[in-house]
Amino acid sequence: MQAHDRNIRRIIIVGGGTAGWMTAAALSNALQQGCEISLIESAEIGTVGVGEATIPPIKVFNQSLGIDENEFVKFTQGSFKLGIEFVNWGRLGHRYFHPFGSYGRQFDVVNLHHYWQDAHSQGKASSLENYCMAWAAAKTGRFAPPMTDPRNVLSTYEYAYHFDASLYAKFLRQYSEKRNVTRIEGKVTEVKQAADSGFVQSVTLENGDSYAADLFIDCSGFRGLLIEGALKTGYQDWSHWLPCDSAWAVPTATTEFNPYTRSTAHTAGWQWRIPLQHRTGNGHVYSSQYMQDSAACDLLMQHLDSPALTDPKQLRFKTGRRKLFWNKNVVAIGLSSGFLEPLESTSIHLIQAGIAKLLALFPNRDFDPLVTEEYNRIAIHEIENIRDFLILHYRLTERDDSEMWRYCANMAIPDSLNYKIEHFKRFGRLIRDDKDLFGNASWLAVHIGQFNSPQQNDPLMSFRQKDSVSWLNKLNTAMTAAAQRLPSHREYVERFCKASI
Ligand code: FAD
Repeated sequence: MQAHDRNIRRIIIVGGGTAGWMTAAALSNALQQGCEISLIESAEIGTVGVGEATIPPIKVFNQSLGIDENEFVKFTQGSFKLGIEFVNWGRLGHRYFHPFGSYGRQFDVVNLHHYWQDAHSQGKASSLENYCMAWAAAKTGRFAPPMTDPRNVLSTYEYAYHFDASLYAKFLRQYSEKRNVTRIEGKVTEVKQAADSGFVQSVTLENGDSYAADLFIDCSGFRGLLIEGALKTGYQDWSHWLPCDSAWAVPTATTEFNPYTRSTAHTAGWQWRIPLQHRTGNGHVYSSQYMQDSAACDLLMQHLDSPALTDPKQLRFKTGRRKLFWNKNVVAIGLSSGFLEPLESTSIHLIQAGIAKLLALFPNRDFDPLVTEEYNRIAIHEIENIRDFLILHYRLTERDDSEMWRYCANMAIPDSLNYKIEHFKRFGRLIRDDKDLFGNASWLAVHIGQFNSPQQNDPLMSFRQKDSVSWLNKLNTAMTAAAQRLPSHREYVERFCKASI
């Protein structure tokens, strides 16, 4: 039996951005008594202030905290997201959709996309996205949560949110403070470590106040105050695979209230468009190696669909990860742990995944290295799978109109990804890894959307008797009709979760 006096008694979270407050909320919900939780943040330093699009698992995070969906969407000026439309990625002038949910329903031992590929190659089927419910709703600007009856085609999609991340942090701050999290305002200027073990003992603020704890969560953003500043953990740089290192972000008034994110590739990066209730978030993620900052800013401003509401803000980042996510008694969560560009809206998810792992492997004051090792093993696996999925978008481009796209189309990629691309190209098979966040439908969307067409169909098809063309037509008709029964995205939000200002 474990002695109670080895329990963690005090936790300090450094940083009050999305990562800090998500962590505070989840820990205060899970550790109901016997552990003091404090969060230190500095208004003077502020937060990164971007991060608006998410993926479906965020619903699980909110539900685990008992958060009411409508209340949350209202508070965060949120909207709903059925997937991402990619414009100009595979080829200039081409677009495809990465849906949340599946392509129809599995109707045979052979995967739907083999039948689709066969019909499509004979000119008897339209684009793949026309066989998924998320796109049927998204392209007509409609939204309602999916049905639960698996026989209904309206059960075959999933959804996530767009929201104002600083309002989400505020929402979670209220939640956490109600559960006794103490917020401390101030700038950490010194980190004290034990001379023998190097474990962090306390942090000291500019005003001289010092705070000790057993466990420290580093949510201090890109600077990684504890994980890097104090512990010198090291960073693995992935910019040779994901060359973008900068972004300009600017809000505009909301015109088209689409229930999806749009990502439009430019010559040295891509532009996001994320509609919220009170504004639309826009940003240009680009590689400063291939485009000057001023040109990148101009390009963004030229491609807005309504006037900017503020001056554009510039951000710099280095794609990669800390060599360790948990080092000694410091766990890095959020931007302090690494960064992947927001192409598939995965950063907030990685915060959630970090918190889930921390709770699943919650330590005592022994900080057994086996626990730390397991956390790092899973965290590295998770982020590398996401990294590969992002690289897929760049590597599969057929664009050769700029230096960056030519580089990406020919760059060497991780073996893990090469294996997946080859299998799909040769056999149309989707190879999955058990820690893969993105499922088959997601990988399929990008392979097909970016012209990695299988060279052959599943040999099983020749043993099947299936009128796939009429089945695909039926599917498309059913989805189109079902979409017409949904309210518009705007109507849904106005009815259930309209923000008060
Ligand atoms: P920050 O927001 O930087 O917060 C750091 C905190 O630490 C602040 O409170 C700061 O005051 C505090 N701090 C720092 N130093 C000190 C100190 N010395 N003393 C006291 N306090 C200190 N994610 C998505 O999921 N979807 C998106 O669409 C998306 N878009 C993005 C676009 C861009 C261009 C970028 C750069 C990121 C995007 N992200 C997105 C990522 C997302 O913004 C972050 O994952 C999220 O905001 C979490 O940030 P954070 O809390 O780790 O860091």
